[in-house]
Amino acid sequence: MAETAKIIDGKAISEKLRGDIRKDVEALINDGIVPGLAVVIVGNNPASRTYVNNKKKACAQVGIHSEEYALPEETTQEQLIALVEELNGRPDIHGILVQLPLPKHIDDEAIIAAISPKKDVDAFHAENVGHIMIGDHKFLPCTPAGVMELLRESNIDVCGKECVIIGRSNIVGKPMAMLLLHQNGTVTICHSRTKNLAEVTRRADILVVAIGKAKFVTADMVKPGAVVIDVGMDRDENGKLCGDVDFASVSQVAGYITPVPGGVGPMTITMLLKNTLTAAKL
Ligand code: NAP
Repeated sequence: MAETAKIIDGKAISEKLRGDIRKDVEALINDGIVPGLAVVIVGNNPASRTYVNNKKKACAQVGIHSEEYALPEETTQEQLIALVEELNGRPDIHGILVQLPLPKHIDDEAIIAAISPKKDVDAFHAENVGHIMIGDHKFLPCTPAGVMELLRESNIDVCGKECVIIGRSNIVGKPMAMLLLHQNGTVTICHSRTKNLAEVTRRADILVVAIGKAKFVTADMVKPGAVVIDVGMDRDENGKLCGDVDFASVSQVAGYITPVPGGVGPMTITMLLKNTLTAAKL
C-alpha cells in the first residue's frame, strides 16, 4: 500500500537550521567569542556514548568548541558537582551538558541543580523550567523545541488544534505540553494510567508520542489526516531502530508523520547547538 502521509524530514530541516546556526557562530567568532560547550559523561552506557559522540560531531560541524569530560563509573556525586562548579566558573564555557542517565549512586536532580541556569543548555534546571511555564524562557528543552521547529518548518499551525501528547516525562511530555499551549493548542497529556487511550488519541489533530515502546501507536489510534510526531527511539523485534509509532500502518491514515530515524532525533541535537549559541550570545 502506498503511503498517504507527508513525511516530515527532520534530517533535511535540521541541516537547514544548522546552516543558519553556523553563520551565527561565525559572526560571533568574528566578534571574538567562540561558543563553548562542555559535555560530561559518567560511566560506560553505550547509548550515552553514542549520543555524546553525535553531539560533539554536530558542534564541530557548526564551529562550536566542545570539550568532553569522560568520568569513570565510580565517580562520586561530590566529584561530579565539583566539576560542574568548575565549569560554571569558566568564561570560555557557555553551555554545560551532563549526559543522563547517571549511575544509580548519583542523584540526577542534584547535578541538574548544580549547573548554572545560564549554562543549562538542556533547560532542565528548575529555574529554566519555571521560565518555560511562564513563557519568558531563554532556553527550551531540546526535544520539545525540536518538535516545535518541525511543525513550524512544515507550516503546521498549532492554534486552536487538539494536541494530544502520550508521555509526561520532565524531558519530553511536560515541556512539550507547555510549548503547544503557548502556541494556543488545546492540549491533553496521556500517560500509563489514562483510560481509553485510543479514544483520546483519535481526537488529536496533532499527536506527539513519547513513551519508549516500539510501534505502540497503531493506525486505529489516529484520526485520518492527523499530524503524528514520533519522539520514541526504540528497537524492534530484529534490533532495528524504530519509534513509538507503527510507521507502516499509521502512515496510511496520518496527514503528516515523522520517521524514525530521521525525524525528531536530528532536531534534538540541532536545538542543543542553538541553545549553546544563545548561551554564548547572552
Ligand atoms: P520516560 O521518562 O520513560 O516516560 C515515558 C512516559 O510514557 C511516561 O509518562 C509513561 O507514563 C508513559 N507511558 C508508558 N507506557 C505507556 C502506555 N502504555 N500508555 C500510555 N502512556 C505510557 O520516557 P522519555 O524520556 O520521555 O522518552 C520517551 C521516548 O522518547 C523514549 O523512546 C526515548 O528514547 C525517546 N527520546 C527521544 C529523544 C530524541 O531525541 N528523539 C529524546 C528524548 C527521548 P507514566 O508517567 O504513567 O509512567
